[in-house]
Amino acid sequence: MTHVFHRNPKQQLEFAVRGEGIRLFDQNGKGYIDASGGAAVSCLGHGHPAVIQAIKNQLDQVAYAHSSFFTTQVCEDLADFLAERAPGDLDHVYFVSGGSEAVEAALKLARQYFVEAGQPQRRHFIARRQSYHGNTLGALAIGGNAWRREPFLPILVPAHHVSPCYAYRDQLPSETEEQYAERLAQELDQKIRELGPENVAAFVAETVVGATAGALAPVKTYLQRIRRVCDQHGVLLILDEVMSGMGRTGHLFACAEDGIVPDIITIAKGLGAGYQPIGAMIASSRIYDAIVAGSGFFQHGHTYMGHATACAAALAVQRVIEQDGLLANVLARGEQLRGELRSALAAHPNVGDVRGRGLFVGVEFVGDKAAKSPLDPALKTHARLKKQAMQNGLMMYPMGGTIDGVLGDHVLLAPPFICTAQD
Ligand code: PLP
Repeated sequence: MTHVFHRNPKQQLEFAVRGEGIRLFDQNGKGYIDASGGAAVSCLGHGHPAVIQAIKNQLDQVAYAHSSFFTTQVCEDLADFLAERAPGDLDHVYFVSGGSEAVEAALKLARQYFVEAGQPQRRHFIARRQSYHGNTLGALAIGGNAWRREPFLPILVPAHHVSPCYAYRDQLPSETEEQYAERLAQELDQKIRELGPENVAAFVAETVVGATAGALAPVKTYLQRIRRVCDQHGVLLILDEVMSGMGRTGHLFACAEDGIVPDIITIAKGLGAGYQPIGAMIASSRIYDAIVAGSGFFQHGHTYMGHATACAAALAVQRVIEQDGLLANVLARGEQLRGELRSALAAHPNVGDVRGRGLFVGVEFVGDKAAKSPLDPALKTHARLKKQAMQNGLMMYPMGGTIDGVLGDHVLLAPPFICTAQD
């Protein structure tokens, strides 16, 4: 009998008692390759000595100081590190404790920006179907996972959805990638016009979709076209890189590969790599300056924002990734993993697609390859895959995305950046 309110009380969980390198070990000494890490969190693997030492050092100085009374050097240093590397003028880092908090902060900042800019009528948020932005009410409101949203619909703020960029399913045989991107950009343009451009605050998208679609990257010109549509209508672009950011795709910020700069970006998971809970919203100077010149106060906050120990862990993680040149390994190992998965699985009748960027790898399963029909949900394939993989000593992240309201099946693999070719 446990008194922990586990999320899935019927699930039998082993105890994680030790972590080392790419593996976690249970109470029986069995090792599990962490190719999911909660998901896509443990980018440095487990027990990294430099990160542990940085946390200890910080605890010896100051573990926590409330952000309305003090800043700390480590919080300032982490913000400098991120701002120096973030694209464009994304220079103002607002630290929170996780991904949903980062998304909530982004939504509220976008709204407050327009209130202060004398456009208080801008209140609509547009996001995409087949997306996940977190489980808090604001993030869930914009998210596009029907299953997660369904019980809470009556208490969610209405948001608007357009199509995801899902070439495997939606690009027509007669279309080039550019034409497909153009069609999606026009759909967004139309949605904005329908709502009245003067009423729309922001468009929100994951740079590479994680939980709901399995490492689904956009076609090449998609984000550039989306950026242009947003600009034409004065709508802010918020990119959610909670899962895809912090090096997971082989670039510190995934959107660098797409050659665009959003107005606000959210990061979490790989930022602290699981050593401490931490996330951040990074705002452009245009938005930050408007708030400073306006009310001078962002009307939002949490108790643990800028937590010194969490910042120390994240700064150590990010320095290791940079100093050890791990992003090159992310690119090489990702190519290798996709290549080997394709050779092993491409002929399987239920494997529709193997995809991703860097060490963010997805496998989509289908009932019928030609029709790309989803597997029968009654088969509960993702639950069975997870169980079998754990028996085999592998943590991976199987999930049901939503395809036309039906749960489809994907597996997400997000191994640590330290993994070797042999691993
Ligand atoms: N945004 C994206 C893209 C995510 O993948 C997630 C979590 O999976 C979140 C937001 C929410 O993050 P958290 O679970 O840390 O609240």
